[in-house]
Amino acid sequence: MASYKNASYLIQNNHEAFDQDHAPGAAAPYAGIYRCMGCHREIGIASGHILPPQSHHAHTSAQGSIRWRLIVYADHNPK
Ligand SMILES: [Zn+2]
Repeated sequence: MASYKNASYLIQNNHEAFDQDHAPGAAAPYAGIYRCMGCHREIGIASGHILPPQSHHAHTSAQGSIRWRLIVYADHNPK
């Protein structure tokens, strides 16, 4: 699970981008931390970079396929 020390660096956000799963090998629509919804492994990635492929790590049949979901958005252009 992603963790942090100083809560003032994060803000809760209900944007729909946090509800969408992305296939392995797809381009990450936003920079940040993505979680595999099958096994809960997390990765950090830049916007537009390619999410790890299905061969990135092994799942049991119960975990299903790799599905990447944005869990923390990284703001590259703060106002
Ligand atoms: Zn996984």
